[in-house]
Amino acid sequence: MAGIPVDKVVDISETREENMLERVCPVCSSGQHYSVHSVNFEDNIGLLSGYNVVACSDCGMVFATPLPEPSVFEHYYTTLSKYDSSLENISIYDQERFQLITKFISTFLKNETRVLDLGCGSGGLLRELKKFGYTHLFGLDPSKAVADYYEGKKSNIKVFTGYLETCEIPRENTYDLIILEAVLEHIPDVHAFLGNVLKLLSKDGLLYIGVPNLWEFKKCNDGPFQQFSIEHINYFSSVSLNNLMNEKNLSMLSIEQIMLPGAPGIFASGIMGIWKREINKMNNKIVKDNYGLEALKDYITLSMMMLNNIEEILKSVKQNEREIYVWGTGTHTFRLLAATSLGTCNIKAFIDMNPHYVGRLVRNIPIKLPGSWLDSSTPILISSKIAQSEIEQYIKTDLKLSNPIIKLYRD
Ligand SMILES: [Zn+2]
Repeated sequence: MAGIPVDKVVDISETREENMLERVCPVCSSGQHYSVHSVNFEDNIGLLSGYNVVACSDCGMVFATPLPEPSVFEHYYTTLSKYDSSLENISIYDQERFQLITKFISTFLKNETRVLDLGCGSGGLLRELKKFGYTHLFGLDPSKAVADYYEGKKSNIKVFTGYLETCEIPRENTYDLIILEAVLEHIPDVHAFLGNVLKLLSKDGLLYIGVPNLWEFKKCNDGPFQQFSIEHINYFSSVSLNNLMNEKNLSMLSIEQIMLPGAPGIFASGIMGIWKREINKMNNKIVKDNYGLEALKDYITLSMMMLNNIEEILKSVKQNEREIYVWGTGTHTFRLLAATSLGTCNIKAFIDMNPHYVGRLVRNIPIKLPGSWLDSSTPILISSKIAQSEIEQYIKTDLKLSNPIIKLYRD
């Protein structure tokens, strides 16, 4: 995640419900849109208590609105975000994604190209580019640990610390390729952000963008409405993304729709595209995304069916009136608390491995790390689709717990 200054910290509990700002279309800046779906995370401890998913009346771009003011996002990404990098162990799924991206962009690049990965995380993509023979590799990430890691390695990879607007990175038309992988879907003010990005790009430089693909949300099997997460607030298709690039005087060289594995049996939709800067670009006409709304409606229907199946399971849990533990305090859990009987179940504690969450309260119920405090007769409800089998295995094999387990999805 790039783009958010690190030095301002606000208390979310005081600001979250106030100053919600209605957004204009992140692509064409139109103020005309209609609401298609309402998202509710009322108990969430992080960024948002919910938003409407709307479609722009003019260009068809789908996005979230209203949102809290920018300082709330800054606070979230500096304190609560899950993007703490694991530097040595890059998952096989990320590895596969980085290989795919490298192959895609390498057809457009010479080896002496200066490449900047904005929001480089653990630097896995830069490492993959290095394997392909690229030698001028730069990254930017909020975590200082990443910069220190590459400094110690004396590799050809130089990582800067901080956020785009405030970091010490060399500026002014410096880079031949800038990478924005899994970044643009998080950005509240897309035009302002891209304006800052383009200041770093050489005059005929290339911009690579990877984002989730609205048109294929229905193929993402990570749980009901999970594409409308606490962090993702822009839902691009290849048409709307290209419209945005045209608005910024960039011409498309190539664009692909892909499905990417994210966990065993779980797939995420993606778009990867590469654009070239053209100073005197003509023909910036917006093409309306006529398929986006239909794709969105299909996804909502599918998610509602999934939610109904989960509700059947939760209703019987509730009827038992037994106390339960809930494992997981991510988007998935907050959605279920708001939309299903989970909200009225007898929850004894939440369990989570994220150290940023532990010690906080949800509905006055504590979030704890798993440990000896667990009562072995209380069932553990696993609130995740993407990690359900991994969590189950961890509970049984690593923690050797004998608690009954409640699963919301078939294996
Ligand atoms: Zn629009």
